[in-house]
Amino acid sequence: MGFQLLLITIIVSVVLGQEADWGYDRQNGPETWRSRFSGCGGNFQSPINLGASRPYAVFNMFYWEGDTNVPIRMELFNNGETVVLNGTWLPGRRPSIVLTSNGLRYVLDSIHWHWGRTRFDGTEHALNNVRYDMEMHIVTRLASNSRGSSPDRLVYSQLFQIGLQDQTPGMSAVAENLAGVITPNSRQQIWPFSIDELIAWQQMPFYSYQGSLTTPPCTEPILWIVAGQPTGISFDNIEEFRSLENRDGEEMAGNVRPLQPINGRRITVDLS
Ligand SMILES: [Zn+2]
Repeated sequence: MGFQLLLITIIVSVVLGQEADWGYDRQNGPETWRSRFSGCGGNFQSPINLGASRPYAVFNMFYWEGDTNVPIRMELFNNGETVVLNGTWLPGRRPSIVLTSNGLRYVLDSIHWHWGRTRFDGTEHALNNVRYDMEMHIVTRLASNSRGSSPDRLVYSQLFQIGLQDQTPGMSAVAENLAGVITPNSRQQIWPFSIDELIAWQQMPFYSYQGSLTTPPCTEPILWIVAGQPTGISFDNIEEFRSLENRDGEEMAGNVRPLQPINGRRITVDLS
């Protein structure tokens, strides 16, 4: 009996330990990830600095479909590292990104954010070595009827800077509801809105490259599309994000991975 109890205790602590195995502190932060998650030591990691090397130019890289469709249900979730926005759409109404070069369709999975503690330290990607105040990741998955060797996930990334013109009313809708998800594992239903209210339209050019998830297990390959100009956000909205608590019961801010080496990867830029 005593042995069984000990075994259960060990299993439970291993499982719980793994769950809390990474974060953004000195003890569990990005510099320590590769020792526990081999994927984080890969050669094609994200984020990277964009605009540093001469990119390969294309036109009409992608387009959105269904981004104005309003979901029937929307929910915020504090997962201990960020806040995640999930939605439920009627069949066939879920938004997607279509790549014009090969017609592949990537369907929306969920949306989350990364942000800093002060100014210009809240984005993961950098544009010409400049980081901004917040980065939004719209995570999508390759539609099941698609074929080929393309990455099965695409992340659409948008950067925010305090003080620029606010083009995304959905960010205020999210920020106003964050009080309901202060502690990890909490959920909050919110009034549904279409994701085009989160996407700014004056952000040309768009950069694309093959990278990884920016959190463990740092899976490769991930296809990235990063809007090449920051859009506006209010200081008050970012302060609402900073009021969230992470798994260690601390302020959830600085959930940002440092820049990774480009290692000769080709970066594409959409100039249309
Ligand atoms: Zn992310």
